[in-house]
Amino acid sequence: MAAIAPPPIKARKKLLKRAGKDHSQTLRRAFQLAFLALNVWIGTEFYLFVRYYETGGRSAYAVRPPGVEGWLPIAALMNLKVLLMSGSVPALHPAGMFLLIAFLAASWILRKSFCGWLCPVGTVSEYLWRLGRSILGRNFRVPRPADIALRGLKYILLGLFLYAVGSMPVPAIRAFLSGPYGVVDDVKMLNFFRFLGLTGCIITAILVIASVFVQNFWCRYLCPYGALMGLAALASPLRIRRDPSLCIDCARCAKACPAALPVDRLVTIRSAECTGCLECVAVCPAAGALCLSAPRAKRVPAWAMAAGIAALFLGVCGYARVTGHWHTNLPSSTYLDLIPHANEFTHP
Ligand code: SF4
Ligand code: SF4
Repeated sequence: MAAIAPPPIKARKKLLKRAGKDHSQTLRRAFQLAFLALNVWIGTEFYLFVRYYETGGRSAYAVRPPGVEGWLPIAALMNLKVLLMSGSVPALHPAGMFLLIAFLAASWILRKSFCGWLCPVGTVSEYLWRLGRSILGRNFRVPRPADIALRGLKYILLGLFLYAVGSMPVPAIRAFLSGPYGVVDDVKMLNFFRFLGLTGCIITAILVIASVFVQNFWCRYLCPYGALMGLAALASPLRIRRDPSLCIDCARCAKACPAALPVDRLVTIRSAECTGCLECVAVCPAAGALCLSAPRAKRVPAWAMAAGIAALFLGVCGYARVTGHWHTNLPSSTYLDLIPHANEFTHP
């Protein structure tokens, strides 16, 4: 009887330790918190602006912050279509459109970095799953078949919005946005959050609880804005790359990845779910094994990623300001007429 040869034992690779400390997560958290604070300030200013008109000028006045239009993604998509089809910058809610352009550019060039570095909802989501992990010692992963099916939901929602905007002719978009509903759609959005009914409270509570247990529950399964950013990121020149010759197969990168990507088994991460958060790179112990890289395998340090995001955000918003396309200029009398009746306007 022939002797059976024992299976070959995979030689363990020697760890070449990384020199120096990784500061990518300090940098990313600073961006996240700064953007969250900016949004809290915008929300407060906008609330004061709305209250001034609701009370007929009897409360403190605040200037309407154009940044509030970042919370009107459908109006931004409509305005982007008007810009692309007519070549002219819309007069109502232009800031929302410029913010969308800045975030799309950041996601295209620097992976889905809007989600991982800027989005305030993504930041709150991240703190919720970190809270869950610190209380329970772990987060839960949805079984793969259900995870794949659920991830499709955000693309279905995005498809519905793109279809709705795509099927509207430019004159119909202009008529919609300049009508009473379109003018105060930001106020209606504020009212939605201010006067959250029982159903809204229950849905919010479910999403918050789910986000404590499952990493980025809202972003991963339901956010159509994130889905759009992910599609833009598919064409990104930047990728997380693993060098198998230097990797020691410890799988720390995969465990750290909030998008649950199998970083330890791939050479290049092309997924639309990768937010360029660099968590995987931060935990990798092996020198040169994992990095964010540009074409021709050039390493992109975290500070360059941060500088790129800041330059795109400030550059696009600054351009809109300098060219006079940042503010929605409506007379006070229009706001005085419409804001107190915002909830009476129904979707045309
Ligand atoms: S692969 Fe890395 S950069 Fe991409 S989402 Fe996962 S941890 Fe973040
Ligand atoms: S963290 Fe990932 S890339 Fe780095 S050594 Fe471990 S398995 Fe390899």
